[in-house]
Amino acid sequence: MTNRTQALSESTSRAATSRLRALSGSAGAARRPVGDCALVGAGPGDPQLLTLAALRAIRRATVLLVDELVPGELVEFALRGLKRRPRIVPVGKRGGCASTPQRFIERLMAAEALTGQRVVRLKGGDPFIFGRGGEEVQALQAQGIPTRVVNGITSGLAAATGLGVPLTHRAHAQGVIFVTGHAKSGGSTPDWAVLAQAAALGLTLVVYMGVAQVDQLHAGLVQGLPGTTPVAVVQHASLPQQRELVTTLAELPRALRDAGLGSPAIMVIGEVVNARTLAAQAQHQLHQAGHQTEQSAQAVTPGAGTSAPQRARRRA
Ligand code: SAH
Repeated sequence: MTNRTQALSESTSRAATSRLRALSGSAGAARRPVGDCALVGAGPGDPQLLTLAALRAIRRATVLLVDELVPGELVEFALRGLKRRPRIVPVGKRGGCASTPQRFIERLMAAEALTGQRVVRLKGGDPFIFGRGGEEVQALQAQGIPTRVVNGITSGLAAATGLGVPLTHRAHAQGVIFVTGHAKSGGSTPDWAVLAQAAALGLTLVVYMGVAQVDQLHAGLVQGLPGTTPVAVVQHASLPQQRELVTTLAELPRALRDAGLGSPAIMVIGEVVNARTLAAQAQHQLHQAGHQTEQSAQAVTPGAGTSAPQRARRRA
């Protein structure tokens, strides 16, 4: 994060804090929910992987709370051509800034909705996959705020596809387990030895937030899986800066350190990694071509599907 962006983000956070204070002070006891909230999945980062429903939701927002994993380019893509842009509030931690507390985000969403705003909380991947979306929906619904959730492509799927890995190729796997390497504070970490047994029975493991825990993950998994088990790690899946590593379970900690791959990354563990159907290179080139087409021709007009209904609504 540049100094300028960091300063911008910090001043926006200060603005959000004072706005929350103002909203809390003025709303009074007889508040009625007149706005609404949508938790929207932005997908793994490539604007081309936004769903049409997500695009529509973003473009009708009056307040947009943007998660740390959502690239600014994606937001700009989604808002392109809009006459009235939503107020954008970056939430989450970036480049060493302090994380926006979860409670604060929930209170801000609720306070905005209670004053009639159409609030969109734009989250990386899918809101219900390790995204704390469940907690947010419960907090909003407890206050009677109309809330909905719009799916996004979860990074675990995008990372596998980016490598050409068919997660449930039936010659190798009967299913797939999405698991986090990061426990909530005070919670227990996954039992990697038990997960190894599941993987040995033919379940592919897709690990989110696992990079920092790679030593524990490795120590547990080798108890039930051969060291030759293939592992793929994908950082920044779907983005131009995507990086990937294919190695074995035995080599994983060292290979990860040598490659210098860090967060955000997905690990895919299981024989399916050997069943790659497309060379990573080809898949990557496809993405690059998509980005270039997007940038040069601006071929995909965001909101092409929304502008007509919006016009119709305005006419009605
Ligand atoms: N709701 C998100 C996950 C949030 S948890 C989803 O469905 O994808 C955050 C973790 O997601 C990161 O630590 C990383 O493990 C993973 N992640 C998110 N975006 C990613 C990306 N573009 N590439 C690789 N991993 C990603």
